[in-house]
Amino acid sequence: MKIELRDEGTLCISGYVNAVERQSELLPKSKGAGAPGDFKERIKEGAFADSLSRLPAVKLTFNHGKIIGENGRNLILTEDNIGLRAEATVDDEETVAAAKAGLLTGWSFGMTNVSDRYVKQADGTFERDVNRLDLTEVSLLTRRPAYHTTTVELRNGAAVEMRNADDLPEVSAEELEKISSYSRRRLKAEEVYIFSVMLCDNEIDRDCERFSVAALIKLAELFEGKTGIFDHDASGRNQTARIFDTEVIADESRQTSQGEPYTGLYAKAYMMRTETNADLIREIDGGIKKEVSVSLSARKKYCSVCGRDLGTEPCEHIKGRYYGDKRCHHIISEPTDAYEWSFVAVPAQPKAGVTKTSGREDTETIKAINAARQREIEILRLKGKMYNEN
Ligand SMILES: [Zn+2]
Repeated sequence: MKIELRDEGTLCISGYVNAVERQSELLPKSKGAGAPGDFKERIKEGAFADSLSRLPAVKLTFNHGKIIGENGRNLILTEDNIGLRAEATVDDEETVAAAKAGLLTGWSFGMTNVSDRYVKQADGTFERDVNRLDLTEVSLLTRRPAYHTTTVELRNGAAVEMRNADDLPEVSAEELEKISSYSRRRLKAEEVYIFSVMLCDNEIDRDCERFSVAALIKLAELFEGKTGIFDHDASGRNQTARIFDTEVIADESRQTSQGEPYTGLYAKAYMMRTETNADLIREIDGGIKKEVSVSLSARKKYCSVCGRDLGTEPCEHIKGRYYGDKRCHHIISEPTDAYEWSFVAVPAQPKAGVTKTSGREDTETIKAINAARQREIEILRLKGKMYNEN
């Protein structure tokens, strides 16, 4: 939740009220209308958008009581690819005073006429899929009132269920599961910070090079588990993040200069929430650190004009130059390894992009990195030996 106090005593508040397609914490039976037991809930993508299209006049309340606004007036509710997002401008004195005192804690919402499905789990709890709902209200909370955690409210005979934004874990169980394959012990949700980065794409970069889509798919596999450093400084051992999930996403609505659907390799990374990382986390949240450079090696690089493999058959075409209506660029394909990725703060160029090292051109870089990795492996071996001796 982002709260901004304007000098004339107006609050601008924005944030996510709920995330779709994301499992909640375990909720008590009493929070679901007709729930057969304690349950974890997942709201289907599009359920909020559907409700807003049918019933747009959603009220904004303060602690589920006083009405302080309405969607379309001083509240804008939308469902985007994360979930239900609210942007409110509030000048209610009581709410403003609560915000000034730092008492506003989060969003909550009410839903009714829920169409759902409960599936019993091995441990006796349930998973609930909410496919359709009527959004009744969105509320700003000062603290978690007791009734939120206990009951379903009845209004005009209809059951209204309340949900708090903090019923949703910032890190999902699924994500923790994936992270646990990289951490020495099982981490708790509150110990880790998760963020997403775009590693590379199929658009021609400033070096007149691009990745083939097949290369991006291969790189998705190679970057799993790879560590990232900040500002090219590997000395801060604590200031590292590790990729625990990758995905290649094609955006059919956006075309590259080559007429392909824009395709990017996206990664999810985690880092520990330590005191030394607190500033970094704030910077990432604030969007300051967002450029990433990656280093990798690839077996082949093709000329876009003649299609020759430049490693074995150099051609006369020059990168960046036009041949007819074709602009020569190199297509990187068959990646063999991904070494590291790095966060670059405030890059000199608007798109800092990618540092690539192709098999033949930059062997020194690769060697240097390999040597460093070799040392790391040896250190691990030493450690292993020590453990064996104990
Ligand atoms: Zn050529």
